[in-house]
Amino acid sequence: MRLLIMGPPGAGKGTQAVRIAARLGIPTISTGEIFRSNITRGTALGLEVKRIIDAGDYVPDDVTEAIVADRLAEPDCANGFLLDGFPRTMHQVEALDRILGASGLNAVLSLEADMEPLVARMLKRAEIENRPDDNETTIRHRMEVYTKATEPLLAHYRAAGLIVAVDGNGTVDEVTDRIAASLDAVKV
Ligand code: AMP
Repeated sequence: MRLLIMGPPGAGKGTQAVRIAARLGIPTISTGEIFRSNITRGTALGLEVKRIIDAGDYVPDDVTEAIVADRLAEPDCANGFLLDGFPRTMHQVEALDRILGASGLNAVLSLEADMEPLVARMLKRAEIENRPDDNETTIRHRMEVYTKATEPLLAHYRAAGLIVAVDGNGTVDEVTDRIAASLDAVKV
C-alpha cells in the first residue's frame, strides 16, 4: 500500500507512522529522519542541511525531492511505503505525483486532533524536557504555520479523493486501531 500520513505537530504522527508501517509490513520514509541520520553521520548531505534544519527552515525542494525519489526506488518500497513529513510543499506534491506516475498513492491519512489538548501536551513535554523556547506562543504559532502550509496539500489530495480522515484524539493504541480500521476500507 502506498500511503502518506499528515497531522499537526504533537499529534503523534511519527509514532503512528512507525506502528502502521510495521502492521502493513512496509517501510516508513521520514524525510526528517533521513536528514537527522545524515547530520549524525556527518555525510555531505548532512553538512549541507544542518544549518537549515537548525534554523527551523525547510530544506530546498530539489534536494528533498531527489532524496525521496532515490529512496522510493529501493527494492523494499516495491510493495508499498508510508511517507511521513513529505510532501510539505505543493512543489513536492507535484514531484511525488511525477515520481509515482500512474500507480499514484492509495490513500493520504489525515490525523485530526483537537488543538487545545495538543497545545497542553506539548507544553507539558517542553517542561519535562526543559525546553523553555517551547512556550505557548511558539507552540500556537507552529500550529498555525502547519495549518496554513498544509491546507493546499490537503485540498489537492481531497480533490483526488485520497483523504482518509482519522480521529487522532485518544490513546496511542486507540488511534493506531482506528487508522488500521480505516485502511481496511482502502482499495489497493
Ligand atoms: P520533521 O522530523 O519531519 O519535523 O523534520 C525535521 C526538519 O527536517 C524540518 O524542520 C525541516 O527542516 C526538514 N524537513 C523534513 N522534511 C522536509 C520536507 N519534506 N521538506 C523540507 N524540509 C524538510
